[in-house]
Amino acid sequence: MKIYSFPRGGLPYDDPTAPGKTEAVNAYLPALSVISLGKKKKSAYPIVSVGEAVREGMLIGRAQGAGSANVHATVPGRILKKISWTDRDGVESDAYVIRMEGAFERLGRKEEVLIWSSLNGYDLQRIISDYGITKMENSETPLSEMISASRLEEKLTLVVRCVFDDPWLVADYALCRDRLHAVIEGAAIVAKACFKVLQIIFAVSHHEKDLGELLLSEAKNFETPASLVLTGCRYPQRNNRELELALRSYEKKEGLNLGSFLILGPAVLAAAYDAIKHKKPILDRYVAVGGSAVRRPQIMKVRIGTRIGEVIEQCGGFIDPPEKIVIGSPLSGREVLYLDEPVGKSCYAIVAMTKSQVAVHGQQNCINCGECRAVCPVGLDPQIIYKRLRSAEIENAEITGCQGCGCCKIVCPSALPLFETILEKDREEVSA
Ligand code: SF4
Ligand code: SF4
Repeated sequence: MKIYSFPRGGLPYDDPTAPGKTEAVNAYLPALSVISLGKKKKSAYPIVSVGEAVREGMLIGRAQGAGSANVHATVPGRILKKISWTDRDGVESDAYVIRMEGAFERLGRKEEVLIWSSLNGYDLQRIISDYGITKMENSETPLSEMISASRLEEKLTLVVRCVFDDPWLVADYALCRDRLHAVIEGAAIVAKACFKVLQIIFAVSHHEKDLGELLLSEAKNFETPASLVLTGCRYPQRNNRELELALRSYEKKEGLNLGSFLILGPAVLAAAYDAIKHKKPILDRYVAVGGSAVRRPQIMKVRIGTRIGEVIEQCGGFIDPPEKIVIGSPLSGREVLYLDEPVGKSCYAIVAMTKSQVAVHGQQNCINCGECRAVCPVGLDPQIIYKRLRSAEIENAEITGCQGCGCCKIVCPSALPLFETILEKDREEVSA
């Protein structure tokens, strides 16, 4: 079977401090959980008060406006207080702190099962919206908004992204293995909700071919036609841009017209399945926990709202003091400033790094090796852009098109903050 990839740049990426492909360990339920209402401007409107009792899965924040999703309590308990914090990029978030008490209504109980074949696309979208289902990687865009936007397309292909080009995606790999059926049925549900889906493509890294074949054989039970496309594993193959390039070359080779792509990861599809079949909001996230500062890296199934410090404790705590903790991949993730920050819906990895992992050596002058240019999948010359930014030569309103993949950062022998500098400038231009 042919393997499809993007034409230039990228690199193989491995990290021995990431957990291996083992089964997920259930994390303890948190005595105190911190349920984020979302980032300011996109936060949900709080509908419960301090002191009030809440049930597991109860709505506690109502979506208000574009980009905002409903928020649910993930444990039964009592609201202790409302807190706010500011992240590294200066973005403020609000949250409720819940002390766990009372009975669980879902955990350990037989689940309600809804037959969804008689529901139409609008009903499915409404339920997905009610249960606050969001994209569960990098951003928390509401899935119902993505479904609405996809209906504007003439032709649409739903792409199930099972591309593991980064060892920190291992939690999504474990989720695919544990919840294969939920991922496939979730895809069938979203395809129906979008109306115009011609087919479902399972885009799977070629070294996980057996997983791809399992997905495809189960998908035969659903109405929407499905196919399997094996992709390369060179980082950043899973980025939307690089995945689209690979799929367009498949489309050309097969003489197809796939229309536009709606690309979704396995976690959000399993969450859509839970919302529709079991009337359940997102209660847990599979998370890869590791990094050189963590004693026992492992994949954990963590209740949303558990504090990061508590999750690391369950991995044996720190071997050495962490220099930096990141949510997501070390290449493109967000730095965490407080161990009390909670695991949210989009947290697929927690990486705690010692000083030696953060900086193998200090910053030095550029030696003009050209490595950064060679790996950039967009065809940029990060070295030149960085130098021009440093000397303020770049005109305002000039957006570079940098995807933030971090390839240039990995290869730079002088440890220069190439993509951080470029992305910061692009962000300033967008917000100007
Ligand atoms: S310049 Fe941007 S797109 Fe190019 S390698 Fe660096 S981070 Fe990736
Ligand atoms: S990889 Fe680093 S040292 Fe090499 S050309 Fe690019 S910026 Fe300069």
